[in-house]
Order: sequence, then structure tokens, then C-alpha cells
Amino acid sequence: MMKYLVIGDPVGHSRSPGMQNAAFRHHGLGEPYGIRRVTPEELAAFVEEARGAFRGVNLTIPHKEAVLPLVDEVDPAARLAGSVNTLVIENGRIKGYSTDGYGLEMALEYNFKRPVAGAEFLFLGAGGAARATLFHLAERGAAALRIANRSPEKAEQLAAELRRSFPGVPVETGGLADRERLANWLRRSDFLIQATSLGLKDEDAPPIPLELLRPDLKLALFDTIYRETPLLLKARELGLPAAGGKEMLIRQGARSFELWTGREAPLEAMRNGFDKQ
Ligand code: NAP
Repeated sequence: MMKYLVIGDPVGHSRSPGMQNAAFRHHGLGEPYGIRRVTPEELAAFVEEARGAFRGVNLTIPHKEAVLPLVDEVDPAARLAGSVNTLVIENGRIKGYSTDGYGLEMALEYNFKRPVAGAEFLFLGAGGAARATLFHLAERGAAALRIANRSPEKAEQLAAELRRSFPGVPVETGGLADRERLANWLRRSDFLIQATSLGLKDEDAPPIPLELLRPDLKLALFDTIYRETPLLLKARELGLPAAGGKEMLIRQGARSFELWTGREAPLEAMRNGFDKQ
């Protein structure tokens, strides 16, 4: 019986079933995690169905924001970020959480052994992934946030929300095309987080000119995409600490698993389940 699901549109690419079922198997709980395409038009009806039929749901593109008004309760951190990627369903009541920010924080610690508190961040992108994770990083004590986006006004809108919630954290914004500002920010930041969708397809151009990466930068690069993007390859070639998005996906899923089951997520089993798909 499927008791847990990942939903999205499209969703066929999702690695969540392999990774989550590995965790359930590890605890002797079978393989209760499935996958279903749910379109935006079907989302409200799906949430009502889930109330009686499922114990937990993960949501991916394009549902993370649209689901907020449809659930009974939203965790305060998810409310702040305006993003929900996990539903916990108990006795017909649905509570929404966001585990993406936690996933990124754990991935940075795992890959680079550097804490988030006190660190300065440069984000490329201001979409859903950036939004969900930036609020978490501000809450966890980031010292400065810089957001470069193709549409600078979208970065500025997100920055205004961040400043309202975290007046003590400096937030700057700019355009991806502003080379001089980017070069300056790259020199000053401890982490470069690639959170645009560029790099998902082979033919995608890198989000910033690759020559802006230099071997003397002190930053670590984390690309939220879990394939080898040109930006990631360039950083590696220069000897900069660099990692792709796999561990973030594992850790956000691990947090969902713990919220659903109250059991410790078996990270190694989940990594193996992720790789085997
Ligand atoms: P989204 O809400 O659609 O945002 C897309 C972002 O990419 C926006 O900042 C957008 O800029 C930018 N962008 C798109 N096409 C562009 C182009 N041609 N040139 C420059 N910028 C472009 O998507 P999302 O949900 O934030 O996802 C972003 C990425 O995060 C995806 O690659 C996804 O794989 C990754 N992600 C990874 C994890 C993980 O666990 N590893 C979790 C969530 C997401 P505009 O604002 O100007 O349109």
C-alpha cells in the first residue's frame, strides 16, 4: 500500500522514491513511497484525497507555494519562506513543512565542513529554491546575503521580505549580468550557491561567465542541481571546494522521513537508494 508520495508536474525525474524506500526498507517498513504526476489544476483535489489516503507527501515543482492555503497548519519557518515541500498527515489533519533550507545547511556542512553561522552567501537565482533556503540561512545566523538574479527586481522583492524578517542580516541584490558587482561579491563571499535552473539541460549556458571564477577565491561552490554543471566542473578545475546538489536532496528527504516516522534517517542507505536509480 502506498502511504507516501512525491507529487509534481513534471515528476518523472524524481529520485525521491528510490531514496525514501531505501530508508523505509532499512527500518523494515517495506516500500510504501510512490510517485504521482499532479497538475496545478489537480492540486486542491489531491490534498483532500491525501487527507484520508496518505501519511506523508513531498511536493516538487510547481506546488511548493500553491499548497500553503490548502493545508490545515503551516510550520512557522515554512510560512516565513512561503514554501512547503513536506506534508505530514495525522488523523486527517495536514501540516506543511519546508525541509529544503535544512537540507542545504546539512549539505554545506557535509561537503565543506564549514558552518553556516557567520558565513557570507552569494546566491545565483531568486526562484523557489533560493527563497526556501535563504530564510533558513538568515535564521541560522548567516552574516550577509547577496542575491544575483536574471530579473533583478525579483531578487529585490525577495530581499525586501528577508530584511523585514531579519533586520540584522545585510541583504544586497543585483543582476546576473552585472559583471563588476559579481566579481566583487565573489571575492567577499564564503559560499556561492547556484540556485538557477541553468545547468539542468546540456545546452544551458552557465549562469555567470566562467572566467569570473578564480583560483584565489576563498569561497566554496554548491550547485543545487545534482548533475555535473559547467560551473561545477570549472570550480573543480581551479581547485575550489565544489559540490553538486545530491546531498541537499538526501538531507531534505531525510528530514521529511524523520518528520513522518519519528525514526532516524539512515543516510548511507538513502545515498545508495539515490544512486541506484
Ligand atoms: P524556479 O522557481 O523556476 O526559479 C528558477 C530560477 O532560475 C530563477 O531565479 C530564474 O530567474 C532562473 N533562471 C531560469 N532560466 C534562466 C536563464 N535562462 N538565465 C538566467 N536565469 C534563469 O526554480 P527553483 O524551484 O528555484 O529551482 C531552481 C534550481 O534549484 C533547479 O535547478 C532545481 O534543480 C534546484 N533545486 C535543487 C534542490 C536539491 O535538493 N538539490 C531542491 C530544490 C531545487 P528569473 O527570476 O529571472 O526567471
